Amino acid sequence: MVDIRYDKDADLGVLAGKVVAIIGYGSQGHAHALNLRDSGVSVVVGLRDGSPSAAKASEQGLKVLSVSESVKIADIVMILAPDQVQRRLFADEVEPNLKEGAALAFAHGFNIRFGYIKPSSTHDIFMVAPKGPGHTVRREFQSGRGVPVVWAIEQDASGQAEKTALAYAKGIGGLRAGGIKTTFKEETETDLFGEQAVLCGGVSKLIQYGFETLVEAGYQPEIAYFEVCHELKLIVDLIVEGGISKQRWSISDTAEYGDYISGPRVINPSVKAAMKDVLADIQNGSFAARFIEDQDKGAPEFKKLRKEGEEHSIEAVGAKLRKMYSWRSGSDDYTEGSASR
Ligand code: NAD
Ligand code: MG
Repeated sequence: MVDIRYDKDADLGVLAGKVVAIIGYGSQGHAHALNLRDSGVSVVVGLRDGSPSAAKASEQGLKVLSVSESVKIADIVMILAPDQVQRRLFADEVEPNLKEGAALAFAHGFNIRFGYIKPSSTHDIFMVAPKGPGHTVRREFQSGRGVPVVWAIEQDASGQAEKTALAYAKGIGGLRAGGIKTTFKEETETDLFGEQAVLCGGVSKLIQYGFETLVEAGYQPEIAYFEVCHELKLIVDLIVEGGISKQRWSISDTAEYGDYISGPRVINPSVKAAMKDVLADIQNGSFAARFIEDQDKGAPEFKKLRKEGEEHSIEAVGAKLRKMYSWRSGSDDYTEGSASR
């Protein structure tokens, strides 16, 4: 049975008199730090010397220290630097300064699951992972709601790890929505699979192939963009609200019949077989090793693939249309909170 906890199941008092160090002030870091502070928790932010985020955190009223100094005074250290830098950050600055009995926390199980970080058995290790981007975690908290979280205990040295994890989850607003219990293994493997096979990798490639198919058949790229990309959000909103059934209820019978007839032709059993291969590479650590090895060399493969993606013709068509149309409410400036470019 799934184990879901809410605000009433957690006690913020567990964090009274304790200091939480948030390492990193990006997408998740700023949201955790500000939400915990607003929940009455004593927070410090640990950043590299010369970090561009330091000014922002100070302006928002947070105490900023170096990573080492923040770890030295912390009872709970939440590591919210990018996954690929956590291993070195932990070895160089976190582990040597960790107080006896301090708890270590993560928002994604990557480094623990694949053994890049191996803390001593004397520390609690827990995870509180919001199932949404950091900016939404902050915005929802400020409007009195929360983004759902998953939480996990990897190591319970104190006997209090679960109480601490739940208090932390409550402090960032996650238990207003609900927190599902998981494990580091399950969260890491399913999170990587979801983003690779469906949410990011799968959807991006589906859109690109749909666009290419229409454009190669001689249709206008602008029309193709609307049909295979713009409308996706409207469809996904319906799925999020009421499942695939609500989406099918809302579309025309023509669209629904085409869904049943052609969906399985495009996304056929070979796609599921490929998904199983992707999952196997995640489970056996080969995806993680490839990512980390590339990052350690300065990310040549990653940068090449990013550039190729940015140069796909759908990007230029989309940018032009988003400028021309009044439905454009968001911003094409997506650089905030992204440390890697
Ligand atoms: P991010 O890239 O937005 O920010 C990372 C921050 O870490 C930077 O802003 C900077 O302050 C700091 N940093 C960068 N390099 C550093 C270094 N070498 N040493 C010290 N600090 C450094 O990262 P993020 O997306 O917030 O991800 C943080 C963690 O949260 C990851 O484990 C990620 O998997 C997890 N997570 C992210 C999301 C999301 O939506 N972004 C959702 C759930 C979980
Ligand atoms: Mg994810």
